Amino acid sequence: MQLEGKTVIITGAGSGVGRASAILFADEGARVVCADVNDEWAKETVRLVEHNGGSSIAVHCDVTSEGDISSTIDATVAEYGRLDVMYNNAGVATPRPGLRFEDHTVEDFDRLMSINLKGVFLGTKHAVLQFKKQSTPGSIVNTASVAGIVGWGGTVYGATKGGVIQLTRAVAVEAAPFDIRVNAVCPAGMPTTNFMDIPTDTATQTVAFDKVAQQHPLGRNITPEDVAAAALYFASDSARNVTGVILPVDGG
Ligand code: NAD
Repeated sequence: MQLEGKTVIITGAGSGVGRASAILFADEGARVVCADVNDEWAKETVRLVEHNGGSSIAVHCDVTSEGDISSTIDATVAEYGRLDVMYNNAGVATPRPGLRFEDHTVEDFDRLMSINLKGVFLGTKHAVLQFKKQSTPGSIVNTASVAGIVGWGGTVYGATKGGVIQLTRAVAVEAAPFDIRVNAVCPAGMPTTNFMDIPTDTATQTVAFDKVAQQHPLGRNITPEDVAAAALYFASDSARNVTGVILPVDGG
């Protein structure tokens, strides 16, 4: 049990990587707070965790709201007494398929920055404040993307994820004296709701994802469970001397 007795908040826990992580972390002994803007999806994740015998609650949280982030941490401490791991995972994809850089509107830019980067800033800030209040070690895991490392996968989206990567590295250095670790996972393209929202037929998507898979040396599609396994390592005490690491989960 790699997270026995630990309390974890996962943002975007209602779907994809967040849901897979909630299930895996709970299987590894964590008490999981499923924070999502979509209440029904979060409750469904809680149901799946409880079905496996785990402990979990759903909390409404829009990661762009400082009040929501702060009250999610308050609700966590009220329910479970403490916070050990903050997994800032919520994020949204480029809004329209094939959107070229110059066709992004200011509203597109603001929405991507607000959810993908400001959300991680707020989650990290309030987790650090809580960890310092508790005077206990803490671990923060962020979901970035390979699109934040290479020039592929969306221009403004990639910029938000590049921001998450730099924030991860810089806070890791600043928070290290307080035994607070900060790491990030960088998935490649996965067929989750983020992408299933793209209005193309399943056959087209299958072809598209097969093409993505073939771009990686291992030649397989990435799954939310692959990303959850990497996040679990960062969250666990096995990684007690690992901080500021940006880990691609992309098939090479
Ligand atoms: P998903 O769409 O399946 O899940 C995202 C979840 O985030 C949903 O439950 C949604 O309700 C929630 N969410 C959206 N906006 C929110 C907000 N403002 N506040 C709180 N919750 C919010 O997508 P996913 O693929 O599981 O994405 C998880 C993370 O992985 C994201 O950060 C995404 O950018 C990143 N990522 C995804 C891919 C991919 O191909 N799917 C690749 C690289 C990185």
